[in-house]
Amino acid sequence: MTREPVKVAIIGGGIGGLTAGIALRRAGFEPVIYERAEEFGEVGAGISLSPNAVKGLEALGLGDFLARTSNEPLDQFLFHWKTGEELLCYDRRETRQVYGAAYYQLHRADLMAGLVEAFGPGNCVMGAALARLDEDADGMRLAFADGREARADIAIAADGLRSGVRERLFDSSEPRFSGHVAWRALIPADRLPARASEPASINHIGPGRNLVTYPVRGRQLVNMVALTRSDEWAEESWNARARPAELAALFEGWADYVDAVIGAIPQDALYRWGLFVREPLARWVKGRVALLGDAAHPMLPYMGQGASSTIEDAVVLGRCFAAATEPLEALRFYEAARIERAGFLQAESNLGGDRLQALDPYALRDNPPQNEDALGIFSYDPVRVELA
Ligand SMILES: Cc1cc2nc3c(=O)[nH]c(=O)nc-3n(C[C@H](O)[C@H](O)[C@H](O)COP(=O)(O)OP(=O)(O)OC[C@H]3O[C@@H](n4cnc5c(N)ncnc54)[C@H](O)[C@@H]3O)c2cc1C
Repeated sequence: MTREPVKVAIIGGGIGGLTAGIALRRAGFEPVIYERAEEFGEVGAGISLSPNAVKGLEALGLGDFLARTSNEPLDQFLFHWKTGEELLCYDRRETRQVYGAAYYQLHRADLMAGLVEAFGPGNCVMGAALARLDEDADGMRLAFADGREARADIAIAADGLRSGVRERLFDSSEPRFSGHVAWRALIPADRLPARASEPASINHIGPGRNLVTYPVRGRQLVNMVALTRSDEWAEESWNARARPAELAALFEGWADYVDAVIGAIPQDALYRWGLFVREPLARWVKGRVALLGDAAHPMLPYMGQGASSTIEDAVVLGRCFAAATEPLEALRFYEAARIERAGFLQAESNLGGDRLQALDPYALRDNPPQNEDALGIFSYDPVRVELA
């Protein structure tokens, strides 16, 4: 692309916006991130990054940072909800050799801090909630809720599941409650049985619910995610503090390990999320605007691919800007390279709950569904995937 300074505005400074910012800078551009929050922040929770995303982050120079701040699971276990009996185990020892990068688990706040540092906080405008985005003859005009304005040639909307840009330009429908609820907490490892801080994911699965743990932050903390079902999401807030006793009631009669985990959750450490879904979109680009991450393809967390697919988007976007002769061509390359892959991940992830939380966990053991390996999810390489 000619190096006429192309002004790229990124709306949203989450994992997607920040990674896109880093990728565009490495491609020679100077994007500005506009973030609604006054400060970068993340919830107290863990996150897993699969090799498809880690390949991308390593290419952006974050390899050492990830190796320093993450744990690598050696095994991913599935246990029977009641008996605690092992049903399946995916061995992850060969992940680097097989897929070309590690499978990492880390604290979300650590990942955010690493991304902010790599992008440079100086290029972020905080407290900037986008209110309007209009295209005119000279490009894009951004208007913010506090009256500020900015101009850009291209806008990348990384403003999350409830993206206002998506709603205004691509899809006016509301996100729909999926019937799935996530409960998350970080628990000090010394409150838990020793096996909770071994380098492994421990997933107890039963009809309509499951509970996963894995260690983060040098194994000082254990991340707990429980996924349950509910007919409706009545609360106004889509994430809320919850009491461990509510979770204990939902998991009554489960294996001793599950009991011990729920019993160890500090009173103020549990959060409950209503999980919302949106239909896949046929287009992610309109004029000078492109969607990225959850704004484009939110998915249920059963395959741990929401952030990983968002990172794939960002890495490919940077390569498209480096390869194209002009910005609109870069957006066309990006959409062509990404829409099918993300749609596939979205569909598989949304089916994941029904597979994992089947009525009979033994049926899953005897007839295992295609997992991430079999589906080829980890083999994808955003650094090498062909651009149109
Ligand atoms: C329970 C649960 C567990 C998960 N676990 C995993 C996992 O292990 N691995 C994984 O890969 N994924 C996981 N995910 C998914 C992952 O968290 C998301 O896919 C990812 O965070 C999406 O990043 P994003 O940047 O697109 O959106 P977000 O993280 O939502 O960021 C959007 C940003 O835009 C800002 N914003 C919004 N509106 C405006 C506006 N008008 N103006 C300016 N800024 C705005 C917001 O403040 C926010 O900072 C999980 C999700 C859930 C719910």
